[in-house]
Amino acid sequence: MVAVLPNQHPEEERLLAYATGSLGEVKSLLVATHLALCPLCRASVEAYEAECGGWFDGLGGGAEDDRWSAMLAACDARLDTAVLPPPAPRSTLPMTGPLVPEPLRGRLGRPLFDFGWNEIAPAVWLSDWTVKDAQTTGCLLRMGPGAPVPPHHHSANEMLLVLTGAFHDEYGHYRVGDVADIPADTDHYAVAEHGGDCVCLFLLDGEIRFL
Ligand SMILES: [Zn+2]
Repeated sequence: MVAVLPNQHPEEERLLAYATGSLGEVKSLLVATHLALCPLCRASVEAYEAECGGWFDGLGGGAEDDRWSAMLAACDARLDTAVLPPPAPRSTLPMTGPLVPEPLRGRLGRPLFDFGWNEIAPAVWLSDWTVKDAQTTGCLLRMGPGAPVPPHHHSANEMLLVLTGAFHDEYGHYRVGDVADIPADTDHYAVAEHGGDCVCLFLLDGEIRFL
């Protein structure tokens, strides 16, 4: 089995926010773990860092928020014409078993299945491991083979990073390393593929309500 590069990526604005340090800690954990698997997004982040580096220091006067907004606007304008490096060649490294890349592996501190699991629907569990910052709560979502996460509504953004297995939803198919970035105020379902449990890093900014 050869590794397949991620096919579903964080929104570009998230990569920009990550590169400029304005993405929250928990979302940064997800993006950084995706970057470990995705040379394409690594190249984007490197380009953003190169484009934006030094802009903050070069902007004079005004409140911090104004300077920050000005820097992001300047980056946006420059990125319209930025030339991103070509994607890295496809890797042929084997990717077997639920090996979790850093930095998430260090934050978990345990093998992927070695957690307590709270069942929220038949064959769907949330881990007792959680991570939290001012805006975002994260945990592991585990779906048994073929198990559906019942349709639900979320008031704010939801992000998933597949760590093992695969799932699909109304937007696409997601395999190891893929990111689902579900906008706020949407109804959403997810179904694990057959063949093994699907475990994802699961981030929520707001409430979730099952329909
Ligand atoms: Zn990517």
